[in-house]
Amino acid sequence: MLYKRSSALFAEAKNYIPGGVNSPVRAFNAVGGDPIFVKQAKGAYLYDEDGNKLIDYIASWGPMILGHAFQPVVNVVIEKTTLGTSFGMPTLIETEIAKLAVSMVPNVDKIRFVNSGTEACMSAVRLARGYTGKDKIIKFAGCYHGHSDSFLIQAGSGAVTFGSPNSPGVTQGTAKDTLLANYNDLKSVEALIQANKNEIAAIIIEPVAGNMGCIVPQKGFLEGLRSLCDANNMLLIFDEVMTGFRLAQGGAQELLGIKADIVTFGKVIGGGLPVGAFAARNEIMEHLAPLGPVYQAGTLSGNPLAMAAGLTMLQYLNQHEEVFKSLADKTSYLHQGLEKALEETNITYTINKLGSMISVHFTDEVYDFETSAKGNNETFKKFFHGMLNEGIYLPPSAFESWFLNNALTYEDLDKTIEAASKVVKTL
Ligand code: PLP
Repeated sequence: MLYKRSSALFAEAKNYIPGGVNSPVRAFNAVGGDPIFVKQAKGAYLYDEDGNKLIDYIASWGPMILGHAFQPVVNVVIEKTTLGTSFGMPTLIETEIAKLAVSMVPNVDKIRFVNSGTEACMSAVRLARGYTGKDKIIKFAGCYHGHSDSFLIQAGSGAVTFGSPNSPGVTQGTAKDTLLANYNDLKSVEALIQANKNEIAAIIIEPVAGNMGCIVPQKGFLEGLRSLCDANNMLLIFDEVMTGFRLAQGGAQELLGIKADIVTFGKVIGGGLPVGAFAARNEIMEHLAPLGPVYQAGTLSGNPLAMAAGLTMLQYLNQHEEVFKSLADKTSYLHQGLEKALEETNITYTINKLGSMISVHFTDEVYDFETSAKGNNETFKKFFHGMLNEGIYLPPSAFESWFLNNALTYEDLDKTIEAASKVVKTL
């Protein structure tokens, strides 16, 4: 496939936008080459500026669970646009989406809408601190909760005492309040709790991680976190920005049967418009302004177009529970096909999957950030570009989960498997 126009557009964009993109992963730095400039998308397909048609496995990094330009969402956005695009005043539709979301998600009474997953997680942590009166949080290496300062932290030299910034601009002061544990490793969490007695407000985690490739929690891990939170007066925050309304109607809480205290959302809940949200039971949400002292606000929060898109998406998912099984079946089919293609080579690999999240790691056994980072990136790069050349668009980084959308047909999956069988022989 030719990407001449995309390359030219990227060169032009770099003159005006840092790195040519508005979010770093889009620049293809992890895989090399120039990014694809998309012109439009429908269902499971992307159409780029060079006229190529690609089968899409990122679904805008998750939101487009029913495929691109899902007609009911498109229709409602067009209809609502003519009525005014922002009011900064309460609207009926905010209550409608809140009522529906709360009815679909277990263990929450109220929900507050914001504009991104980053805002949702940042606000959830502030609320947890305000509620518990404690400052520190535990996060897991390799989990991503957006680009708010508290989350851009890596393991510090004294990892049990505090983390250190992994981006210039994040202060040491902020870093000292974020403690870093290892995914699927309860002992690392226990050690942090021991070393920071009565100082930890919350544990924040992606219940199924999607930002170090897809990583599934091992049996007992999330249950163990729940018990540790209960025993130590800490809140358990599930970052369900990826998993919410994707793994099940009630997200990972429902699928895995674990109760979180605060849950954050993004992606699917906005139907492809910029939306995030956080939810909890009344006792916690009552601490939030204007009811309580924990401040949080937004000019465009509850934006009528975003709420209309989100409500339409949630209504569809609420009325079509079969979507989740259909997605899981398609993902299993893809998994089997990829497995078969890779088995015929002598490449070392692991495929991790849950529901409609899946990723191929070119290493054996991936269960945390360290094992994920062992993946052979040279092999991933070749795999990525080989697949792209066959018209299959995978996430341009080994650290990202693939997201299936329900517009994908079994024919699309067969094409993907055929492409993979061809590409893996060249690795
Ligand atoms: N949390 C998780 C688990 C995510 O994957 C992301 C983004 O990919 C975020 C939070 C941040 O969301 P946003 O990019 O909408 O700010």
